[in-house]
Amino acid sequence: GATIGILGGGQLGRMLSVAASRLGYKTCVFEPAGDCPASHVANFHLQAGYDDVGALARFADAVDVVTYEFENIPTSALDALEARRPIRPGRRALAVSQDRLTEKAFLTDLGLTCAPFRDIPDLAALQAALADLGTPAILKTRRLGYDGKGQVRIDSADQAGAAFDAMAGADAILEGFVDFQREVSVIAARGLSGEVVCYDPGENVHRDGILRTTTVPATLTASQRMDAALLAGRILNALDYVGVMGVELFVTPGGLVVNEVAPRVHNSGHWTQAGCAVDQFEQHIRAVAGLPLGDGQRQVDVVMENLIGDDMDRLPDLLAAPATQVHLYGKAEVRAGRKMGHVNRFTAA
Ligand code: ATP
Ligand code: MG
Ligand code: MG
Repeated sequence: GATIGILGGGQLGRMLSVAASRLGYKTCVFEPAGDCPASHVANFHLQAGYDDVGALARFADAVDVVTYEFENIPTSALDALEARRPIRPGRRALAVSQDRLTEKAFLTDLGLTCAPFRDIPDLAALQAALADLGTPAILKTRRLGYDGKGQVRIDSADQAGAAFDAMAGADAILEGFVDFQREVSVIAARGLSGEVVCYDPGENVHRDGILRTTTVPATLTASQRMDAALLAGRILNALDYVGVMGVELFVTPGGLVVNEVAPRVHNSGHWTQAGCAVDQFEQHIRAVAGLPLGDGQRQVDVVMENLIGDDMDRLPDLLAAPATQVHLYGKAEVRAGRKMGHVNRFTAA
């Protein structure tokens, strides 16, 4: 049987491995850390760094196709892999999503709406951008941010210096603050032959910059729901994308504003494990393996709740709760802000 190579050994890689295994594939995970969530379930774990070209070549030779669970893969590693095996989703999706400036330029060129933004190479640029966009605004590192890390909210122009220093020299952009009614995300998939499947949008609530819950159905009008699916399809087609993508949206009275895209399975898509015949992990494996996409229709209402840090104290209650699916990532150590697992609660039949 075929072997699917997965870059990254976190919980997303773990759940991708389980889905691949259910479809009869083997998986090989490439991950620098020794004991990681995906290594517990994958058939093979190649433990090496992304700068180890020899290890990357051995990994590529051992698999039929390469996919990934995170977008910050160094370009040099991608070059080494792509010379040997297909990478799905492709390089363009990674280039676009690794850098917030490239991402916003791409989305804007597609005719989609983003928060107003400015490139911030230096403090003078930040002061000019604040005068232009006003406050509140959010200064974000262009690269490597997640869970709200690498972001500073600026409430008045006199905070510019401190905010700029907080970026610690990293390239940054300033975003105007979007006064949204709610946050939703669309998980969408595109197959090797170009077909697109879109999951029902989920409504997301964050706490301390980290996703707390996703609820389906989201509070949206029929036309907002349609817009969300159409814009996701437009992004996937423009990138000639293969795999699952998460598209984060702000809902405003003026329409949907795209916050960011993730070229991979997404935390806000975990509800599909309880809500659909084919969940986002199986859908991603189907796409990268060249199988037809499956039925992503939502069958029930679901609330997904992340188990972060001390939330694990509630585990006995959650295990005993009715209509509740518990997923744990096998992380030995509980730490504040660390995603340890999630639960999917069915809220209607
Ligand atoms: P993720 O873990 O989703 O990758 P991230 O670190 O990339 O998160 P963002 O998605 O850019 O961060 O922002 C995190 C949250 O901060 C958003 O979900 C939203 O609640 C808020 N936020 C970000 N940008 C804006 C904005 N321009 N206007 C209003 N709120 C914003
Ligand atoms: Mg992000
Ligand atoms: Mg985000």
